Amino acid sequence: MTDPRTYVPAPQAFAGRVILITGAGDGIGKALALACAAAGAAVILHGRSVRKLEKVYDEIVAAGGARPSLLPLDFEKAGPAEYEALAAAITKEFGRLDGLVHNAGMLGDRAPIEHHDIPKWMRTLHVNLNAPFLLTRYCFPLLKASPDASLIFTSSGVVRHPRAYWGAYLVSKCATEGLMQMLADEVESLPQLRVNSVNPGKVRTNMRLQAYPGEDRSTLPEASSILPTYLYLLGPDSRGVTGRSFDCQPG
Ligand code: NDP
Repeated sequence: MTDPRTYVPAPQAFAGRVILITGAGDGIGKALALACAAAGAAVILHGRSVRKLEKVYDEIVAAGGARPSLLPLDFEKAGPAEYEALAAAITKEFGRLDGLVHNAGMLGDRAPIEHHDIPKWMRTLHVNLNAPFLLTRYCFPLLKASPDASLIFTSSGVVRHPRAYWGAYLVSKCATEGLMQMLADEVESLPQLRVNSVNPGKVRTNMRLQAYPGEDRSTLPEASSILPTYLYLLGPDSRGVTGRSFDCQPG
């Protein structure tokens, strides 16, 4: 197997693929949406801010990509009915999903447990863990309808080295790894569906700035530079690779 961190898709390798990316209005999700569209995919952009999604839409079209679909939804506020409606909209327009990237996330509080803001703890688990569960749950028939589908969960370095004060974010990411492994095991009999997780590593995004406000941002890689692992997992060359946790950057 080639190192996924150096993977470069062949031109138009994603032609005909329908890929949904959550949190596609900013940061890693935006960079990934642009890269998938550049490789020929029809991308479905989920995000909270319509204004941000429209900017990504314009960038994709200006670069010659297929017109993306926009699916705005605030995961903090959405309940099962909204997820069901979202999946129904994709069913109507595309009838299947070849890729689903659970990328959206929030940092929440970084504080000792006894000082944690309780509603924020709940919101962080809701956005980082319940939302991927609900979206997977309702999009499952769409993934099963694809001849070659890839489901990607987003992990974090805090899972590899759990440490103090990371609160609900750390707990949500550890649970996300468990969800990924459980699901990969559940779909073992479906060779056309693979389930994996990625840890992006340090990336120059708003979330990283929020987590490390004093850090020199110029030392951090751009989101566009850490995408090869995502593209490997979304493209045809990773068929059969499932139940694994990937690091997008060296240790
Ligand atoms: P950003 O803050 O740049 O992007 C997060 C995305 O999630 C945004 O598009 C944001 O939408 C969306 N989002 C947040 N809250 C909600 C919500 N309530 N409903 C819908 N969408 C929401 O962060 P990154 O790009 O850095 O993070 C992407 C993923 O990578 C996250 O899962 C994060 O945990 C993970 N990660 C990032 C690392 C890093 O160093 N950057 C390191 C390890 C993991 P909006 O723009 O509208 O706010």
